[in-house]
Amino acid sequence: MINPNHDLHLHTRLSPCCTDVNQTIPNLVAAARQMGLRKIGMADHAWLQSDTVPAGWQPNRAGFAVRNRAIAAITPPPVVLRGCEADTFGPGRFSIDRRFAARCDYVILAANHFHFRALVDQPTTVTPQGVGDHMIRMFLAAVRSHLANIIPHVFMPMGYWEYYEPAIAAIPDKIFLEVFQETAAADVAVEITPVYLPPPPGGIRRTWNLATPLRVLTLARQAGCRFVFGSDAHALVAMSQLRQLSPLIQALALEEKDLHPLAR
Ligand SMILES: [Zn+2]
Ligand SMILES: [Zn+2]
Repeated sequence: MINPNHDLHLHTRLSPCCTDVNQTIPNLVAAARQMGLRKIGMADHAWLQSDTVPAGWQPNRAGFAVRNRAIAAITPPPVVLRGCEADTFGPGRFSIDRRFAARCDYVILAANHFHFRALVDQPTTVTPQGVGDHMIRMFLAAVRSHLANIIPHVFMPMGYWEYYEPAIAAIPDKIFLEVFQETAAADVAVEITPVYLPPPPGGIRRTWNLATPLRVLTLARQAGCRFVFGSDAHALVAMSQLRQLSPLIQALALEEKDLHPLAR
């Protein structure tokens, strides 16, 4: 079994939803050293245009240049990559363009930020089947974008959390296998993240059984997908949650060869 020795999904204050004043690049690097991580990646939300920014947020293109200069000043270890987390609004519509992607070391392209109601395509029917079908359509849009290196928190209906288990149950294995074969063929990595771990009962996300994300990830592995680890930490304390992934890693029997080259 492998241990996560990298974290390619970290947010800094450049992400408007990151409110932890301690989430600075030097602090993240120090935390990574303490955890023995070989490689980390900053994956800040990229909002480039004022007409496609979530309400209350501002375009942050200029901030990426400043952040990337700060990253360039770091002496490894760990290796620090300049990434971003971009959005799929719908098939052929994304929050970044190829030019911006070319200036990143890698792009995490979300296919399920459905909580951005006004920006991201919504399921036409809000039923388990409708939400499941919509997740497939959006995931394929991300795989086919020619922008994505990694798809994060896969097949989780953000903004429709109560549909998570029934929507996944509504998607047959055969469909998942086809979609993940295409993902593997496009050399797009699937993220392994603590977001898959069932949240404690009583929060905004109705809790679920680990068997639900495990089924999806098992089919991804079976289809030949390769994986990267990402904590999706918006606060320093959240980085350590990577250590809680061992039940998932063990159940998937992940080996070094299952990791995407980006993770190496
Ligand atoms: Zn995300
Ligand atoms: Zn994120």
